[in-house]
Amino acid sequence: MGKYETVIGLEIHVALLTKSKFLCTCSTEFGAPPNSHCCPICLGLPGSLPIVNEKAVEYGVRAGLALNCQINSYSKFDRKNYFYPDLPKAYQITQEAFPLCGPGYVDYYYNGELTRTKINRIHLEEEAGKLVHSGESIVHSEYSLVDYNRAGIPLIEIVTAPDISHPEQARVFLEQLRLILDYVGVSDCKMEEGSLRCDANISLRPVGSQTMGTKVEIKNLNSFRALERALEYEVRRQEAVLKQQGQIGQETRTWDERSGKTFSMRSKADAPDYRYFPEPDLPPLELKKAWIEDIKDSLPELPLERLHRLMEQYGLSHYEASFFVNYPDFNEMLEETAAIFPNVKMITNWLMGDYSRLAREQGHISPKMMAGLLEIVDQEIISNNQGKDVLEEMFATGKAALTIVDEQGLRMVSDEDALQRVIGEVLAENESLVERFISGETRLFGFFIGQVMRKTQGKANPEVVNELLKTALNSRRI
Ligand SMILES: [Zn+2]
Repeated sequence: MGKYETVIGLEIHVALLTKSKFLCTCSTEFGAPPNSHCCPICLGLPGSLPIVNEKAVEYGVRAGLALNCQINSYSKFDRKNYFYPDLPKAYQITQEAFPLCGPGYVDYYYNGELTRTKINRIHLEEEAGKLVHSGESIVHSEYSLVDYNRAGIPLIEIVTAPDISHPEQARVFLEQLRLILDYVGVSDCKMEEGSLRCDANISLRPVGSQTMGTKVEIKNLNSFRALERALEYEVRRQEAVLKQQGQIGQETRTWDERSGKTFSMRSKADAPDYRYFPEPDLPPLELKKAWIEDIKDSLPELPLERLHRLMEQYGLSHYEASFFVNYPDFNEMLEETAAIFPNVKMITNWLMGDYSRLAREQGHISPKMMAGLLEIVDQEIISNNQGKDVLEEMFATGKAALTIVDEQGLRMVSDEDALQRVIGEVLAENESLVERFISGETRLFGFFIGQVMRKTQGKANPEVVNELLKTALNSRRI
């Protein structure tokens, strides 16, 4: 009694990174003055005729291939009719019955296990304009303004199968999807700017049941965190209703970030009837196999392939490899530095440590400079700690590691004769403490080390000092 499982499917809208709009030649540039990137086609003026932007189709195919989708050589356009001020034609050109891409899938790690979420389809469509309300929200506004610069930007809509079982899994999947689309360069995928948007369908059913529960659609999910939180809230809400023998209404709900709750927007009875019909002004898309093959050949290494390769080729842990997969600029740094300086373990530790903070603030230094630093640390010309200071200095001045070391006289002293002399001085200056050490106060060892480091301005090689000091003190015991 009372055990439910969660079934989640996502619909993801992604703005494509084309220079011009989907069906006209207007610019897609972000941040231009309102209504300055408009023409009779994207304003839907009578008599204007749309023409499909080939680049948008190419990007749609590229996304489909990266998501392991079947690419349909034949697809066509439909009109989705609805009235809203952000839609100048009162219909949206989209693909209903014959989408650009058919079934595919995304593999990703969730809770340490390789997990697959199936994609049902991907289709092309055009973006609507943007409403700007005079007040905080539409209900608190005297008037709203509309900016059609965004109207007609190409989008793909990616529809997953209801394959996802946990709110956290939905977030992890969406992060992986974003990474893939970023790798193949079809979108900048900025959720906060709306170039990646996600709606979620969620239902609950008794564990073991084969029939689907009533699904609720959640909109207004503006971040990965919002997606996870909204789904978590919805699981709790639906569970509570079902446990009291209540009915889940088939409805669309909106996520409210501030209260951390979802609210009903409209029930199924109020759902708009879009009256899809074939778009008469655009011919069907007929794609040549060779063209699709060319796009396939141009795909870069994808995130999961890279993850596995980094683990295999360099022996990185899953955690380390994930870091470099998630930050392609750091990966470039890793691989280019490794080509010069082969100790990958050491490069990894440095890049994920102090280097990452500095690079995030100031941008990367060259792999050659990084290799130069690691080489002198590796050869014990400077200590690990000195290396950290030198790295800061490299970022600040752009100078090579060895130049900084020479200018500041940082070379580590490993010369045994020189260090023996210093140790002799330290012991002679602290005879009473030496006596106490010999009679059992072994914790004084650290004090002697500290004195040697002080006399050498921190430049003594700590390992060598350690060995020499042990020998010196032991010889006093006899
Ligand atoms: Zn236009």
